[in-house]
Amino acid sequence: MLMSIATVSISGSLDAKLRAIHDARFQGVEIFENDLLSFGGSAPEVGALIRDLGLTCTCFQPFRDFEGMPEPQRRRVFERAERKFDLMQELGASLLLVCSNVSPASSNDRGRIVDDFRELGERAGARGLRIGFEALAWGRHVADHREAWSIVREVGHPAIGLILDSFHSLARNIPIDSLCEIDPAKVFLVQLADAPMLQMDLLQWSRHFRNMPGQGDFPLVDYVSTLVALGCDCPLSLEIFNDRFRAASASTVAVDGRRSLSFLWDEVMRGPARAQADTDRIRRGGRSELPPRVVCRGVEFLEFAANESEAVDLGRMFTVLGFSQVGKHRSKDVTRWRQQDINFVINSEPESFARSYDNVHGASVCAVGLRVEGLQEAMLRARGLQIGKFSDPLGLAELQMPAVQGVGGSLVYFMESGHEREVWNDEFIPLSEQGHDAGLLSVDHIAQTMQYEEMLSWLLYYLSLFEVTKTAQFEIADPLGLVYSQAIQSADGALRITLNGSASAQTLSSRFLQGYVGAGVQYIALATRDIVATARRLRDLGLPMLPIPRNYYDDLEARFGLDAGTVGELSELNILYDREANGEYFQLYSRAFAKRFFFEIVERRNYNGYGTANAAIRLAAQSRYRLEAPARVA
Ligand code: MG
Repeated sequence: MLMSIATVSISGSLDAKLRAIHDARFQGVEIFENDLLSFGGSAPEVGALIRDLGLTCTCFQPFRDFEGMPEPQRRRVFERAERKFDLMQELGASLLLVCSNVSPASSNDRGRIVDDFRELGERAGARGLRIGFEALAWGRHVADHREAWSIVREVGHPAIGLILDSFHSLARNIPIDSLCEIDPAKVFLVQLADAPMLQMDLLQWSRHFRNMPGQGDFPLVDYVSTLVALGCDCPLSLEIFNDRFRAASASTVAVDGRRSLSFLWDEVMRGPARAQADTDRIRRGGRSELPPRVVCRGVEFLEFAANESEAVDLGRMFTVLGFSQVGKHRSKDVTRWRQQDINFVINSEPESFARSYDNVHGASVCAVGLRVEGLQEAMLRARGLQIGKFSDPLGLAELQMPAVQGVGGSLVYFMESGHEREVWNDEFIPLSEQGHDAGLLSVDHIAQTMQYEEMLSWLLYYLSLFEVTKTAQFEIADPLGLVYSQAIQSADGALRITLNGSASAQTLSSRFLQGYVGAGVQYIALATRDIVATARRLRDLGLPMLPIPRNYYDDLEARFGLDAGTVGELSELNILYDREANGEYFQLYSRAFAKRFFFEIVERRNYNGYGTANAAIRLAAQSRYRLEAPARVA
């Protein structure tokens, strides 16, 4: 399939958009008329640029309020169409998108509408051009692709076909099966957009909340699979109206768009559509060249960037969390700290990636190491999705394993599952453990904080690269604004990452972004099997804890009917509690390290969430410290 995108989907001037679209490896582009009108160059110049970049102009759009107009508007509509045809020929566009009429002056007289399209087909056909009719979800008389198809079929003109737009079909809940009634040869273009499920005015929903396939809630894999199985082989084109994307850089949004189409096509090709569609057509459309999504078996390590003095403080923090230093890098200023299955690496090597990361952000998590099935395939999938490989030009990388770019310029290392021990043994001199374990077993989840505008981009990154699903997005009340949170997780819970973003300047998330200078890991949740024993142990070790107000526990007692003894214990140890269905969740928090990141300790009992109900309590507790000096470990 030819992969295309509408210029309206990204920010910038028309020439910058076209270059970004080309660089992101799209083959086609829909020219949105306003982008042309506001551009300094002429239509022939734009056409030449499109051709020079090797792009196909898949469509010129939109042509509004066409069908069913009374005279004298009708005559003027046709004059207007002829002028658009002139422009299209200068651009090198052969397809014009006509969206269903919204004008109160328009008539629903079927004979008139069919006659109008027949005449338009004659005029377009005479110039070698084609017309695609798109049903807008808010069209005055035609608001459904079934109605648009019935008109196109009745018109029966070779130059008149259908343009499908997944938003218009799926926002109105039109059954996907209805696509099977359409002659695939008459589908001239398929526009794709996802969107979150919202109850709101269709026009506002479409104009402001569309997003890339995979980022929203629409069943786009079913939608496209049905069309492919039917035999459609027209271009697939993203048409995304979204305020967040228009505030972002053109190249980022273009790459995200292309990534979303690669991901979508990959899912379609792995599904039943592949079996149904004949092999010739699939061959023409192109199989997915991506290896399957990466199966992650768990977080093997977290790498912390630190200068020499920060490394001492970090070591102290790890010690009071129950970690022991178990290794020292054979040649670099890098140490390994361990507790059960959790590895922390402190990297203080001068002139390293970690050091430059520390220079920008201060002591913080600069990389996450994941155990994966199939290292080579994982790297190939990342490359196919245009996720940059980390390469160290000087060959100075402290950890000799492949890595790709992650959130906020951090790295994601891949370690072949089952071979972790070899890597540690090869690179580190073992030290004897000091043995003050606090019962922490593994990394439960990692919380990354980012600008609200970036959240969809990183969501797509994780969804397209890893075998994970996304949870619903939650809104959490910080005392100083709203924080949005959404998680991605694997079915077995081996990989859980929460993405947090805030659009308000003073929330903890935003203060983190300002203090941290960009997106990154804000906290790390570590799992224990017995939170009470762990909490007592951590208290004895001297971990600075986040105090939780007594009022919270009074409410807890009433809300869940917990006995007074249990509540007393939770309160004494500052443990938060949540319950869902048959599951229970216990959590406590450390004070932040250098006001930058902190640790959460969790015990899950058949519980799959993240204690969202307690997040506002935690944020309020943390906000009390915002004007104080950082907590220090004695
Ligand atoms: Mg559309």
